[in-house]
Order: sequence, then C-alpha cells, then structure tokens
Amino acid sequence: MKKRYDVIILGGGVVGCAVAWYLSHFECSILVLEKELDVCCGISKANTGIIHSRSYYTPETMKGELHLRSLPWFHQAQDELDFHLARTGALTVALSPDDLAYLRLLQERGQCPEAEILGPKDTQELEPNISENMVAAYYDPQTAVISPFRLTLALAEGAVLNGVDFVFNVPVIDFHSDDRGIGIETETETDYYVAHWVVNSTGFSAPALAEKCGDGVPPLQAYRGEYYVLDKETRGYVKHVLYPVPTSLSKGILVSPTPEGNILVGPNFEPVKPGDTSTTVQGLAEVKIGAQKLVHHLPFDRTIQIFAGIRSVLPERDFHIFFSHRFSNIVHLCGIESPGLTASFGIAEYVGELLEKRGLNLVHKAHFNLRKNAPIFSECSWEERERLITQDPDWGRLVCRCEEVTLAEVKRALFVPPSARTIDGLKRRTRVTAGRCQGSFCEMHLLSTMIALLGFSENDIRKSGIHSHCLVGETREERESYATRH
Ligand SMILES: Cc1cc2nc3c(=O)[nH]c(=O)nc-3n(C[C@H](O)[C@H](O)[C@H](O)COP(=O)(O)OP(=O)(O)OC[C@H]3O[C@@H](n4cnc5c(N)ncnc54)[C@H](O)[C@@H]3O)c2cc1C
Repeated sequence: MKKRYDVIILGGGVVGCAVAWYLSHFECSILVLEKELDVCCGISKANTGIIHSRSYYTPETMKGELHLRSLPWFHQAQDELDFHLARTGALTVALSPDDLAYLRLLQERGQCPEAEILGPKDTQELEPNISENMVAAYYDPQTAVISPFRLTLALAEGAVLNGVDFVFNVPVIDFHSDDRGIGIETETETDYYVAHWVVNSTGFSAPALAEKCGDGVPPLQAYRGEYYVLDKETRGYVKHVLYPVPTSLSKGILVSPTPEGNILVGPNFEPVKPGDTSTTVQGLAEVKIGAQKLVHHLPFDRTIQIFAGIRSVLPERDFHIFFSHRFSNIVHLCGIESPGLTASFGIAEYVGELLEKRGLNLVHKAHFNLRKNAPIFSECSWEERERLITQDPDWGRLVCRCEEVTLAEVKRALFVPPSARTIDGLKRRTRVTAGRCQGSFCEMHLLSTMIALLGFSENDIRKSGIHSHCLVGETREERESYATRH
C-alpha cells in the first residue's frame, strides 16, 4: 500500500527529530522513518551532551553558522518542549603559557560580559579539584549540559503531539521517481512511502543513501570517542564543564558534570571502522591520562559504566547539507559531527528554509500543542511526592532503586508516543538501569512489566536493537543445548 506525506524525514536522531518538530509548526503532513526500534539510537545516543556556547563555535563554516543560529532556540523552545538544560558554565584550562592566546580567542568570540580569564587562585575557588598545574582558565558562564536522550525525546514527543507520524524498524534502502513525488523503498515494510520532500538525516548512512540518488559524497571517516561515567556519589567533585585547549582534530578529553549528577569523562579521538563502538584498554587509559591533566584524583574507582560514541566526519570537517542532483526534492545532511547536538535547532530551521525555497508552503498552524515533561520522581520534593502518590499509587512503587524511578514513570514511557519498546528505550526515558547497579535489580521487573502491560511474550523483549533479545530460553535448556553444541 502506498502512504503519502508532504515531507518524509529519514532517521530519528536528534537532527531528524528537530527537523520533524520544527516542521510540525506548519500545515504539512510529516513522517519519520527510523531503522531502529526507537529514536536516539545512532550517534545522538553516545556523546558528551554539551551545549557549546558561542565562544566554542567554528567560524566561517556551515557548522559554525548553524551552531550560532541554534543557540537562541534553547531559550525559545523551552516553553514548547519543557526540556531540562543545566547551565553549569565551563572552564577552558590553560596548562602552559602558550595556551593563553587560545583563551583570549575564546573571550573575543564569546562576547559575553560575564566571561573572563581567571588566574589559578580564582579558578580554584570556582573548581577546587582542578589541577595545580593549571596556569589560567577561561570562565564561560553560558555553556550548558543536557541529556541528549531527553532532548531527542522531547523533540519527538513534541512532533507527535503536533501530528507527525513515526515508523520504526524500517531501514530505507532506495528511492524512485513516483508520479506524485519520491518513492521510498524500505527493507522491512511491504508498504511503499511517497513524499514530495525527503530529508536524509540518517547520520552515518546519509552518504550511502545519497549515493543511491547518484549524489557523490566523500566517504565519512568514523572516529571513536570513549568515556567513563562516574557514580552520582561524585556529584560536585567537578562543577563546570572542563575543556582542555583543543587539538587540531577535536575538543580534547573533557570532564563534565551531567544534568543527572554523574561525571562524564572523555572522549578520545581514534579512527575506527564505522559502527565500532567497542571500548578498549588503551583508549580508556588515554582518556584517564587526559582527564587527570585537568582534575586531580578524579575518583575513577566510582566508575559505573564505560561506553564509546562514533563521530561521522567528512574530510572537510564541516556539515554538508545539499539538494540531490537527480531528485531535486531530497535534501541530504552529511557529516553532522560535533556540535551537531547544539546545532540541531539551527539545522532544522535551515532545512525548513531550503524546503520552502523549493516550494514547500510553510503556513503556520492555527494551534500548536505544547509538550510537557512528566514529573521526575527523584527530583521531586517530599510534598510533591506525597501529592503524586495520593493521585496514583504507582508513584509510590519504586522500580529502580538507584535512580528512584517509579512504576508511574515506566508506564508513561510505555504509553506516551513515540513509546519505549525496549529496555534501553525505558532507560533513555526514565533512567531505569542507568544507576549504580546498571539494571541488576530492576531489569527483571522491567521485563515482567512489559509482558504484563504490553502483552509481550518473553521472546519479544529486546535490550535495544531488533536482534538483542533479553530472554532466549529456559536457563537449564540453554545450558544443555550449549553443552551438546560444544
Ligand atoms: C563522541 C561524541 C561526542 C559528541 N559530543 C557532542 C557535544 O558535546 N555537543 C554537541 O553539540 N555535539 C556533540 N557530538 C555530535 C552529535 O552527537 C551529533 O552531531 C548528532 O548526534 C548527530 O545527530 P544525527 O541525528 O545527525 O545522527 P544520528 O543520531 O546517528 O541519527 C541518524 C538516525 O538515522 C537512523 N538511520 C540510519 N540509517 C537509516 C536508514 N537506512 N533508514 C532509516 N533510518 C536510518 C539511525 O538509526 C539513527 O537513529 C558528539 C558526537 C560524538 C560521536
């Protein structure tokens, strides 16, 4: 069956969701096609989560331009999306007098009256555990940290509330000319999608899909970045985002508080094969050494998780956003590397303008629905907790002890679209399994909740991707079959 839309967005990362939400302000039909089972499963799921201020933009580049364009949106969109941004501020740390010129450059770019270059004593007052080898630091109060999952989900939920459809588990594989627009073929669906305009925001896959349209893009190089996540017990050990002076390749190894109270340490910058998100002894050692240059005695013994993210980098180190030559209504978004999270609103607005120039009629909707965040139980006062539990006893049923997540929050995640259908989907929405025990206590409760509330069978439950079954059989049977096979 053919399904027609004005705009089809390929990819439900932060960029695809930002484009969907932005366009949902206007009178047009929109669909997001995502190959995974949820939004935020690609590059957007594993990054540092920093909203870099204007001091850190890259001048004379498209990414610099869209970064600057995006910054006001983090204020403007607050009422419509209700996301949490923690304005921690940042310190860029000079470890030698040679680094001072870079601090002055940041100050010049930032044009922020409250920003200043501080000597060691003032820096230590702000950040007591900072390295004694530091000679100065640039203090920038505008830098913020955000949960990349929560931002992407806020955008996706906001888009759904305003009429956008999402379809998951549909890898797009090809395009055809259709009498009414562009035909989109997918690997798993018998349905065939047709759109007037297509936005290819598939992250790593974007150049390969551009190739399908006959549009040559230099191959993306993958650079892995490895991280440590420290337990919330370390909250306050580092108060600001701590940047080193960058290398010619990346912003360097940072130490950053997260909005939830953990400390995030990383990333390094290592060329790898696309998709290689393994962590390595060498990579993590490099991250540790880099971080220790900024902070003394960082409590690595409080590590609760390690992970790696992959940057998709074009040789020119810039975003490459362009219309297809063969299908004049397909716009490709390639090389959306850092600061793609920060620039996501700017990219969305820019894509909207490009489509409008090609004929998409952007008429504002008479009514736009605001997305409201549900209460986060662990952050509620005792009075608020009492009130919530009186309204619904599920607010008093703790599913995850480490992060104090309640059954009411899990239920919301399972039923508010685009709703969670995997364990990681629940984690990204509620923080179950994200705490100290990393799911040892709560995962079994989550499986039984999904079976009870969604009518799932045991075989239906996935950790994340379509092939990541959580339960594969009875322990005894599996053990016996393993013994027979080996
Ligand atoms: C280590 C690291 C640190 C970073 N730190 C920061 C930071 O602190 N601040 C910042 O601003 N930026 C940062 N970034 C950059 C930022 O994370 C990315 O620019 C941004 O997440 C890119 O989002 P995206 O939507 O373009 O890509 P993705 O998130 O990869 O989204 C693409 C989506 O397309 C889907 N897809 C792929 N192929 C297909 C297909 N054939 N059909 C349908 N769907 C498909 C994927 O499953 C995925 O969900 C960092 C990046 C990395 C890797």
